[in-house]
Order: sequence, then structure tokens, then C-alpha cells
Amino acid sequence: MNIYFDNASTTKPSPSVVEDICKSMQEDWYNPSSQYEPARLVALKIDRARKQIADYINCNPDEIYFTSGATEANNWAIYNNIVQNDSFTNLVIDTIEHPSVFNQYKRIRQENLVHAMSIPLYHLSIDKIEFRLKEFMKVHKYSDTLLVSVSLINNETGIINNCIEEIAQITHDLNGYCHVDATQALTHIPIDVDKLGIDYLSSSFHKYGGVKGIGFLYCRQGCPLSPMLIGGHQENNKRAGTENTPYIIAMGNQIERLSKTEKQRWDKMNELSEYLQSSVFSTYDSHHCPIKRNGTDYELSPYIHSYIIEGIKATDLLTLLALDGIYCSAGSACSSGENKPSRILKNLDLSEDEAKSTIRVSLCENNTFEEIDYFCERLTYHIINLQQLK
Ligand code: PMP
Repeated sequence: MNIYFDNASTTKPSPSVVEDICKSMQEDWYNPSSQYEPARLVALKIDRARKQIADYINCNPDEIYFTSGATEANNWAIYNNIVQNDSFTNLVIDTIEHPSVFNQYKRIRQENLVHAMSIPLYHLSIDKIEFRLKEFMKVHKYSDTLLVSVSLINNETGIINNCIEEIAQITHDLNGYCHVDATQALTHIPIDVDKLGIDYLSSSFHKYGGVKGIGFLYCRQGCPLSPMLIGGHQENNKRAGTENTPYIIAMGNQIERLSKTEKQRWDKMNELSEYLQSSVFSTYDSHHCPIKRNGTDYELSPYIHSYIIEGIKATDLLTLLALDGIYCSAGSACSSGENKPSRILKNLDLSEDEAKSTIRVSLCENNTFEEIDYFCERLTYHIINLQQLK
């Protein structure tokens, strides 16, 4: 039996997505830029996908730019924009950003490209955020333009930033633009870019039953956007290269399908999430191993759970669980190759030992209560054994 609890890392492509891709590979292989009819039909299908996505996040289709995923979209909105565009002179990011944002920030500082600051946007009150951003801009005489980058749901802990609308408003009042990394959020919580005042938004298809290598950047009309790739006229001359038609079509269809099942999916996720948390905590009750869920001071996504299993090394536990066919991760997949405790967990004030004892269990709608039961049974078994080895 394989139990996949690492959905924040990637999700299994849904059968409808695979079907859409296979069909499109057979039918839509013409170059959408060509002028004969079958090729024009392919271009229309790409337009349709753009509209499906735009309808879902409430923007215009021409504000959607297809990319290879969220890493590219994040780089496009931040580094690429900053390097090529004089309009950005100040950058602020959240301290718990994914490496695809955080490492850009580090590089921007190293290269001294613009004034850059990292603050805990997920944690500070709106008043404090306003104060910090104003002070930051005051130092630079308010003359400049600000780019604020913040993620909607943190990939390691599931912390939801529910102040995006306010952060965007403060940013706009300071003559700035707000970029939101929605990679762990799209199709998991409602996103209305217009209502929230988001100027740029990044997403990756493989996080919601799709495939890797495709995603999109939303860029509000009128916001600066320097070209990502130079060449042909694709993506409104901003990202050249022949479009990945099958993946684009499948992404549009999947977003439309998921939009129609939100209520059932989110209800089920809430039930699964509550069941997981109470089952994991009862492991603690019966076996006296303190288990804590990270981020409980904040609103948390039902899709991502992060637990400290005190006194147990996450890497040992994960190896044993994997032998049972249960797959979850330590911190996040992006940082698990490194043998140091996660930067994000350290930001939440976890000690080094606590960070090293943290496992991430990330669910999707296809997981079941039986899988959670089996996971908790094996978790208990391994905790007891690992405790006895000490
Ligand atoms: N941002 C966040 C919050 C993520 O979780 C991820 C993927 N782990 C990314 C960006 C990057 O996505 P991709 O690897 O698909 O480009």
C-alpha cells in the first residue's frame, strides 16, 4: 500500500488532466502561431485556457502569462522586473518565503540592485506592517517604487496570510506593487485578484492535480512587466517560445473543473484535516511523546500540516514510514536535500532540535480516513521504537 502525504511537494496528475494532455498532444500539435486553420484552432484553445484561468481569479485573459511554473513566475515578477525596470527601487519580502523568492532577495542584496528588506509579514499586525513599510520608504524619501512579495499559503507550515488585501492597499498607498506567491493556495482557497488588489500572482500547475513545467503569472494591466524571454511574439511579446499547448489546455480545464467542485472539495479537506490533527494528537495521549502542530497561532491550510515530534529525528521517522509505503517530508522537499534545519521553521522560533524533529504531512482531496488511520498506527509504532533506541 502506498500512502502519499507529500502533496505540497507535488500532486499526482488527475486522470482528466492526463486524458486532456494525451488528446491535445494528438490533436493540437500544430504551431499556434501558424496561419492555416488547424493551427488557428490551437491558438483559440490557448485563448480559452487563458480565459478559464482569468475567470477563476477574476482578471482579464490578457493579464495571464504562461510560464514553466511558479519559480519562473516569481523570478519574472521580482528579479527580472527589478533588473530590467527602473520603476522598482525598493523590495520587501516576507521572511518565510519559498526559496524561489527568498534566494532572489538574497541575490538582489548581494548585487546591491535595490534596497531590500525582509520582514515577517505573516506575523506583524497591519499597523506594524504599515509603519515598517512607511519607515522603509521614508529612508528613501518616498520617491521610489516599492515591490512587496508575500505568499498566500506557506509551503512548509500551511500558514495562511489573511491580510493580503490590507498589505496590497498599504503597498499601493506607497506607490508600490504587490506580488503574491499563490503556489500552495490556488484552488485551495478563494482568490479574487481584483478584490484583494493583487498586482502579480504566481502559480504552478503540478500543485493541483496537474503536471510539472507549466504555470502562470498574472500581471495586472498597467503594472510594469519586462520581457522574460526575447524572441517571437508569444505571450504578448513578453515570453517568447512556442507554447506548450497540451499542458496549457489541461491547466485551463483543470482549473475550471476544480472551480465547480470547491464546496465538496473544501468540506472534505476540512474533515480530513481535523481527523488527521486529532489522530496525530491522540498518538501523543497514548504514548507520551509530545507532538505539536507548527503555526497554530495563525490560520492554517487544511492541506498542509507540520508537526514537531519531540525527541525524534524527522529523517529517521521518514525513512521508517517510507519503508511502510507512507511518503511525507521533513520541512519541505525544496530544502530537504540540505542537512540544516529549515529557515522557515527557525523563523517561527523553533529550536534547532525542534526543527529537525518536524515532519510535514500534506494532504489532497483524494486521501482517505483509512490512510490517516494507517499513518497514525505506523507513526505510533515507530515513535515507540525510536524512543526505546535512545
Ligand atoms: N512557491 C511556493 C510557495 C512553492 O511551494 C513552490 C514549490 N514547492 C514554488 C514556489 C515553486 O514551484 P515550482 O517548483 O513548480 O516552480
